[in-house]
Amino acid sequence: MTKKIFRSIFIVAITILLACLVLIIGVLYDYFRAVQKNQLKTELYLASEAVENSGLDYLTGLDDDSCRLTWVSVDGSVLYDSENSAELMENHADREEIKEAFQSGFGESSRYSSTLTQQTLYCAKLLSDGSVLRVSVSHATIPILLFGMLQPLVVIFVLALILSAVLAHRLSEKIVEPLNSIDLEKPLENNTYDELSPVLTHIERQHRQIAKQMHELDRSRCEFEAVTQNMNEGLVLLSSKSEILSINPSAASFFLNVNPSSAEFFEKEQGCIGKDFLSIDRSREINKALDVALEKGRSEIRISRSGREYQLNASRIDASGNNGTAGSSAAGIVLLIFDVTDKVFAERNRKEFTANVSHELKTPLQAIMGSAELIENGLVKKEDMPRFIGHIRSEAQRLVALIDDIIRLSQLDENVELQKENVNIYELSSSIIDSMKNVSESKNVSISLEGTDVIIPGVRQLFYEIIYNLCDNAIKYNVDGGKVAVKIESNDSMASITVEDTGIGIPPEHQPRIFERFYRVDKSHSKETGGTGLGLSIVKHSVSYLGGRIELHSEVGVGTKITVYFPKQ
Ligand code: ADP
Repeated sequence: MTKKIFRSIFIVAITILLACLVLIIGVLYDYFRAVQKNQLKTELYLASEAVENSGLDYLTGLDDDSCRLTWVSVDGSVLYDSENSAELMENHADREEIKEAFQSGFGESSRYSSTLTQQTLYCAKLLSDGSVLRVSVSHATIPILLFGMLQPLVVIFVLALILSAVLAHRLSEKIVEPLNSIDLEKPLENNTYDELSPVLTHIERQHRQIAKQMHELDRSRCEFEAVTQNMNEGLVLLSSKSEILSINPSAASFFLNVNPSSAEFFEKEQGCIGKDFLSIDRSREINKALDVALEKGRSEIRISRSGREYQLNASRIDASGNNGTAGSSAAGIVLLIFDVTDKVFAERNRKEFTANVSHELKTPLQAIMGSAELIENGLVKKEDMPRFIGHIRSEAQRLVALIDDIIRLSQLDENVELQKENVNIYELSSSIIDSMKNVSESKNVSISLEGTDVIIPGVRQLFYEIIYNLCDNAIKYNVDGGKVAVKIESNDSMASITVEDTGIGIPPEHQPRIFERFYRVDKSHSKETGGTGLGLSIVKHSVSYLGGRIELHSEVGVGTKITVYFPKQ
């Protein structure tokens, strides 16, 4: 910019200088010509007076060669010429100034010499005898004058050039200085040219707009980080070249296998930004899923890691802002990681449960149908009839018990809100034990209750299910002459119910599974014991609903001790 301004000022200065020079020379030339003309006229008048008086004598006696004097007779022939011999000179009647003088008494003209190096001024006056006296003077033309003055002119011109350059340089610097010192961070605080005010106001407005947009961007980024940092799902943003742009803690712990609360985790999480996805995971399945997402828009895979099931959804983000539309170029990929272990587990459980329910319902129904068919076809003797009808009734009872258990479990599964109240678990245990007396006696198993009144908040029906099922199992899986001890205990924060028997015990390999639905240790004897296989499952769900926990100790041939703990608040 400085250079441009310098150049402009310099060119203007030189142009003005040259124009002034030409004009001054022109004006001066004209001025001196006019002065010369006047002088010439004066000299002509003086000379004509003298010639009128003294005639040729005056002219020949004249010793002044500053101008040329020519005396022309009435017929135009030259009578006298101060520079040439009059006889040799041609007739001057056709000379412009002479002609004019003959006509009007005075004439003047100017002519260039043939070489154009000189211009001659002529003034002529008609004398009283009819002759004409002419005075002429020659002076140099402008080009010759300029040529004569070339040296000083060049010197002046060079000096003017230098001066113009220095001044133009200073001036351009001075003009640009306020522009250079403009603080664009605070445009309106600058004290500079008024003409720049609209620009500075515009810049200030843009600053405010940019600041606002930056603030918005920052806020969006913070929101995005707050959401992604606290997401349970893993989220990885990848560029179209599979470089990691962003990775949230859940995804980092999935891929990096580091504890998310450790310092090493943060370091590793930050360290993988900008790196290729392969640097955190080389699994062929995942990388293939990413390729498919890039190509087709989206892809889904399920993988198992560290005993858990994960679903990975990869979606292509297109440059147009859409995700996964065909035909547009990919800006990147979003990879979402869901822990679907519970879902997979629940799905498996549901499938198993459906299969088990069908099987468990079918068995008593088939028994009922078999007995009923025999009776219908008259194949049962009259004396056997009560036995068959009893069989039908017990199978039907089993069915009802099974259906009741299924309904209870599905209620617990659905987490329906059950009415809560303060329950005296000692009193409840006592009444359950009383109701089971007949069964225990028929099995020759003694049952005792120990403890005092303990009142805890909860759902009476669920406490009933827990105590009933534990006592029922303790009697069912006991030995002849065996014992069942029910103990109610409590401290400041917890209450517990322990049901201990001297029964057959549970082999260690079965212990982790007995709380599963329809799981039985001895499947062949399930019909004899009459269980549904859902008792302990109901116990487990009820305890969890009440916020408690279960402890199991069992030894084959020695007995089983199951304790459930409940919070008192
Ligand atoms: P069931 O209706 O068959 O009793 P449960 O869910 O109550 O079903 O029990 C599951 C299995 O756990 C039983 O089939 C049994 O094999 C075993 N079991 C439960 N309680 C005891 C116990 N006190 N002693 C020995 N085995 C037990």
